[in-house]
Amino acid sequence: MKPRRPASAPPDQSSYDEFEASELFCERCRRARPVRKHLLLILPTGKKYDYVCSVCGHSVGSKTDDDASAFSIFQA
Ligand SMILES: [Zn+2]
Repeated sequence: MKPRRPASAPPDQSSYDEFEASELFCERCRRARPVRKHLLLILPTGKKYDYVCSVCGHSVGSKTDDDASAFSIFQA
């Protein structure tokens, strides 16, 4: 038995997990799914995010934004 959340349960939108309304195609579900955005890395050039399917948890892509402001806090 694999632990699986019932489909009727409300999504767990914890404060550290930024929820994005956009959908991406999930290979595992074989259809577009709402995705969750996880902060992966903070780079000098911006923050790298990983997108995972909110239904099955499969990684569906990643993105790096151009916001370098978060990195500057490490450069005293
Ligand atoms: Zn999926």
